[in-house]
Amino acid sequence: MRVPRSRAELHRALAFARAEAGGAQACIPLRDVTPLLEEVHAEYFQRRFGDVTWQFSVQRSLANINRDARHIRLHFTLNSHDVPDDVFRMTFIHELLHLEIPPGLDDRGFPEQHTPAFRTAEKARNPHRTEGWGWLNDNLPLKHQKFFDCTEVVPRKIRLTPAQRDWVAEATGIHLSRSVRCDDPLLRTQHAALWLIVLLARHHKE
Ligand SMILES: [Zn+2]
Repeated sequence: MRVPRSRAELHRALAFARAEAGGAQACIPLRDVTPLLEEVHAEYFQRRFGDVTWQFSVQRSLANINRDARHIRLHFTLNSHDVPDDVFRMTFIHELLHLEIPPGLDDRGFPEQHTPAFRTAEKARNPHRTEGWGWLNDNLPLKHQKFFDCTEVVPRKIRLTPAQRDWVAEATGIHLSRSVRCDDPLLRTQHAALWLIVLLARHHKE
């Protein structure tokens, strides 16, 4: 999916996103990570999986792949220009490895995506693992769901980009952390303070 540059392209991208979503709500991409997907597909998998598509999506899981459709879904919090390319490289290699290494069963007989064979292959063949996970753990509220064998982005928390945090610090003097609860009382106080300033300024003019 390419980044829309006109109104017509935006509508086309929306229609495509809805058709592709199949239940998950797709987001209009702020950045196009197709070149990164094509790069790792060629470099690490000799392009042998044919057309692999991707989208940013409203979901809990950090990333996942539909094996039949060869379609990768990325959590919408990654839909941002400050996410380093290596995070996408690492994620795409991980998801493409799922096409190569089939799921197995764990000792309790439950389906297991990340089998010992998968983990060994990933350690050996994903050179972006350390940087990628380093950035993710530093910047996102993540939780490993042991039962579902997947990593989730903690809901009801929002991630603030460095530019957003700088803006708030400059405007209000408040230094926010990298991720805040959507209903963070600090944000509420800040909103109340900003509204008060706006109201007082208006009152002053009249
Ligand atoms: Zn996985």
